[in-house]
Amino acid sequence: MPTTALYRDDFYLATCEAVVTVIHDDGGIELDQTCFYATSGGQPGDTGFLERADGSKIALDLTRHGASKEVILHMPAVGEPVPLVGEKLVLHVDWPRRYKLMRMHTACHLLSVVCQYPITGAAVGEDESRVDFDMAETIDKDAVTAEMMRLMRENHPVFLQWITDAELAANPGIVKSKNVRPPLGMGRVSLVCIGENSAVDSQPCGGTHVSETQEVGAIHIAKIEKKGKENRRFRIRFGAAEPA
Ligand SMILES: [Zn+2]
Repeated sequence: MPTTALYRDDFYLATCEAVVTVIHDDGGIELDQTCFYATSGGQPGDTGFLERADGSKIALDLTRHGASKEVILHMPAVGEPVPLVGEKLVLHVDWPRRYKLMRMHTACHLLSVVCQYPITGAAVGEDESRVDFDMAETIDKDAVTAEMMRLMRENHPVFLQWITDAELAANPGIVKSKNVRPPLGMGRVSLVCIGENSAVDSQPCGGTHVSETQEVGAIHIAKIEKKGKENRRFRIRFGAAEPA
């Protein structure tokens, strides 16, 4: 049963009501709609809790997709009570955690603007994120940090533009060439655009992002690791760069 993913249209939705539609054997709770982001595209799924009518809580330690991208499973922590099918719940995302992930995820996009090399992998985290690039050059991490902070301070808008799978297939040039697999298969693809008229960047992505670059705040490249002759791993952390 498809779950309406409310977070796709509102990244700032931290709470909503929903009705339980299926309880899976592994404990996964399916709802008619959700504001919980499911693990995908290098961004970890949301944690938080479900509030029952009597005010008691069901703690969730993961949200992930089921058999298909349309199925979203809310995984309760060990020992939590199981709700009933048809039960109405109020969902509460662990917002401080999710907001950090949104800031970090947006920072990954800023890094991809500063470092225009093909991306070979990425993982967004609450404390540290990493992006791997197909590149052989040596690059100064402080110079990269300075460019990212310039984009942050310029406070560019970050917004989504929806195009159909067919439009994307017909206009490959609409997407900057990167080794990131667009989130296809749902009939429409979201392009994450930065800057007025996408002047700074535009690339397909199904994750959650802040709405203007200033919200990313102070971040820095903590480390650039050499992972093979043509692979560099960049580690992004919160806060200003520590003096060398
Ligand atoms: Zn993204």
